[in-house]
Amino acid sequence: MSKSKHSSKNGSTSAHKSTEAEHKKTKEAAEKATSDVAALMAPETVVVEEPPPKPNYPQYRVKPGEPISLADIDPDASEHYQKKRDIKEELEKQRQRLQKLQERLYAENQRSLLIVLQATDTGGKDGTIKQVFSGVNPQGCRVWSFKIPSFEEASHDFLWRYHQRTPQRGMIAIFNRSHYEDVLVVRIKNLVSENVWRERYHIINEFESMLTLNNIAIIKFFLHISKDEQKRRLESRLQEPDKHWKFSSNDIKERLLWDDYQAAFEDAINNCSTQHAPWYVVPANKKWYRNLVVARTIADTLEAMNPQYPPAEEGLENIVIPD
Ligand code: AMP
Ligand code: MG
Repeated sequence: MSKSKHSSKNGSTSAHKSTEAEHKKTKEAAEKATSDVAALMAPETVVVEEPPPKPNYPQYRVKPGEPISLADIDPDASEHYQKKRDIKEELEKQRQRLQKLQERLYAENQRSLLIVLQATDTGGKDGTIKQVFSGVNPQGCRVWSFKIPSFEEASHDFLWRYHQRTPQRGMIAIFNRSHYEDVLVVRIKNLVSENVWRERYHIINEFESMLTLNNIAIIKFFLHISKDEQKRRLESRLQEPDKHWKFSSNDIKERLLWDDYQAAFEDAINNCSTQHAPWYVVPANKKWYRNLVVARTIADTLEAMNPQYPPAEEGLENIVIPD
């Protein structure tokens, strides 16, 4: 009995040791992830480019604890730029940066980037994806558009369908609409009760924090247009035959709820702009300026992540390709 007691004690000690080693490993991994996260807290500030990037795009980041009011942010802003042609070269430069950095992220195959795009109807989510990502290798990038949940999706917890689409290592995922719909349209249409959607801000922050600790960097863009600009865009969808397919009479119903949507966006942004997963409010009346801000912010974030090509096999210099 004493023997068995002894061996069980031994057994438990070695089990204890291996658990301890595992804990240590997990702790180290978590610490490493946390320090990577720390580097992401202000990605643009650690960009290596000289001189530091100008103009100052982080100005559009919503800082935690400093709530914004959308009414105070000018959707027409475009700094000193007047016309699309003023930024043509700069946009091309940013697209190329993005392309190269994406290739490194893919080659490194350790971390990934999740980009969330939200806006009112006609806000320009589709156009942004098309114009900012036109040069990116499709193999390293996935776009997921979230519509009204299917029966199966609606039969699960609200994060279920989004979690399945988060990017695997090396990949960029773009969410065209996202888990934020569950505190936007869901709130406005009373699809769940207030105490349910209110709790979701906290749940979303926890979800995003968990993703970040698993080496997924997150940036979120709200494309900010004015009510007048939405009217112009809806009218052009009616007037131009090539745009008829984009018109939905539901957009008119949603437009009548403009103020409710602005309030819901504002709450989502203010409650969920965290250090690890910041929201950017992008002036988006001018499509070309919006594209520039989004492209540059993504490139700056990737540059701050500084993805590395994996080490080459040893002895490459001695290899001769046979005839
Ligand atoms: P669109 O992006 O124009 O194709 O429209 C997609 C529609 O799906 C919009 O009207 C959204 O409000 C709606 N939608 C997206 N996510 C949700 C959700 N979680 N619950 C209810 N409606 C949603
Ligand atoms: Mg639509």
